[in-house]
Amino acid sequence: MVSLLKLLKSFFLLELLKGLSLTLKYLFKPKVTINYPYEKNPISSRFRGEHALRRYPNGEERCIACKLCEAVCPAQAIVIEAEPRPDGSRRTTRYDIDMTKCIYCGFCEEACPVDAIVEGPNFEFSTETRQELFYDKERLLANGDRWEDEISKNLQKEDKFR
Ligand code: SF4
Ligand code: SF4
Repeated sequence: MVSLLKLLKSFFLLELLKGLSLTLKYLFKPKVTINYPYEKNPISSRFRGEHALRRYPNGEERCIACKLCEAVCPAQAIVIEAEPRPDGSRRTTRYDIDMTKCIYCGFCEEACPVDAIVEGPNFEFSTETRQELFYDKERLLANGDRWEDEISKNLQKEDKFR
């Protein structure tokens, strides 16, 4: 009896029809997938993405070379060198982050007293070589310039929790 049932199932392609009916059922339901990279899901204002060094609205670098971020980084991914400017202010001459070491903990951002180093909303920075992930000051400042609008909005949203 069991083998006869199996034979009938195979003959009428019942399993195939069952599968097709399932496909048909989901064809008319709202889609749960998105067409990345043309569509993207919203991300949290606390998202910890690619690093950026920010400037003040007048273009001056925020970073005062206190090196707190370098000291707190558990992965020892940050290297800073600094010297005073002729006007007496202290600024970095070198600010490197080895992104291959970074674990995206956000400690550098939390330690910074002037909101200079931040982890921005950009998560699309994959590269083909390791070298491209050794960020220098120029690259970090360029990231800051590019993402400043989003970063400042996110920081404002999170202000009451800091
Ligand atoms: S996110 Fe964490 S690991 Fe990455 S640079 Fe900042 S402190 Fe270091
Ligand atoms: S980024 Fe912030 S914590 Fe790091 S050296 Fe500059 S001011 Fe200090």
